[in-house]
Amino acid sequence: MTLYQRLAHRIARLSALCPVSGCHLWMGAVNNDGYARINYRDNGQHRQALVHRIVMDAPRNREVDHLCGVRCCVNPAHLMLVTHRENCSSRENRRRFQWRNYTAEIL
Ligand SMILES: [Zn+2]
Repeated sequence: MTLYQRLAHRIARLSALCPVSGCHLWMGAVNNDGYARINYRDNGQHRQALVHRIVMDAPRNREVDHLCGVRCCVNPAHLMLVTHRENCSSRENRRRFQWRNYTAEIL
């Protein structure tokens, strides 16, 4: 079994489908920002990685945008490879959208 297959198996075992949102919620460790984190061994070396980067096989020059806004979601259908600029722009748009909805609710 390859390293990727072993990780894919662990990721499937450690995530649960949310029937409402369709998110695959990570039940393992998260980092300080709430993103799914996994520890593993590769050629005898301890390594640590963000699960959404493994799921998306993200190259170094790309970031992973959580389209659903749920940081511990590892559903590939809810993730998208983007540039750093796109990720910042998308984050700002999502913040504006949430604020607009919130203010619409209380007014
Ligand atoms: Zn999601």
